[in-house]
Amino acid sequence: MKLILLGPPGAGKGTQAEVLTEKLSVPQISTGDILRAAVKAGTPVGLQAKAFMDAGDLVPDSVIIGVVKERLTADDCKKGYIFDGMPRTIAQAQALDEQNVVIDAVLSIEVPDDIIIKRLGGRRTCPECGMIYHVETKKPAKEGFCDGCNAALIIRKDDETETIKNRLETYHKETEPLIDYYRKQGKLKEVGGEFNIASQTAEVFKVLGL
Ligand code: ADP
Ligand code: ZN
Repeated sequence: MKLILLGPPGAGKGTQAEVLTEKLSVPQISTGDILRAAVKAGTPVGLQAKAFMDAGDLVPDSVIIGVVKERLTADDCKKGYIFDGMPRTIAQAQALDEQNVVIDAVLSIEVPDDIIIKRLGGRRTCPECGMIYHVETKKPAKEGFCDGCNAALIIRKDDETETIKNRLETYHKETEPLIDYYRKQGKLKEVGGEFNIASQTAEVFKVLGL
């Protein structure tokens, strides 16, 4: 099964992707994670991507398309995969179509802007393992430190308030048109994102018939 998770930053795409990865035994392809790893490792892709990411802007399509193309050649992609955070522009979606990547379904998780701002503003990230916490909804056992590696949690640069606003603007302008793009292909499945994670997952399973 090949799925796309679509939605604004902070909609819970990553969490649903993890759940679906286990359920379907296919890998999760998160362009955000791939890019963050590239930045950390200082690869050419990372060097190209960093400034865009810090500002909450999209990384250029050519970079993303190259990264994804390469990822799809890996053995673990044979049975399918779940895209999380990709495509984010019409050009990226067209690139998938042109590579004959046949998507089964696109899950659109819809969350209002004010809820996103609250969610992302409270987000804390472990700089070591990438684990994500929230000051209200997902506290670590010891305040300010990662449960797994005990590293001091940080606010990701792109989770700062001004950057969040920019990411939302970018989402509405560049990514939201994909909802119609996939609706026209008959692949769109809409999921409300205001619920807690468990009911969101239940809805995701329901619309996918799992
Ligand atoms: P979120 O979904 O929380 O915004 P991601 O982890 O998916 O965050 O992405 C982080 C950043 O990486 C984005 O703000 C953007 O700069 C970049 N990025 C990730 N995926 C893409 C993509 N498909 N196209 C362009 N930029 C991307
Ligand atoms: Zn950690």
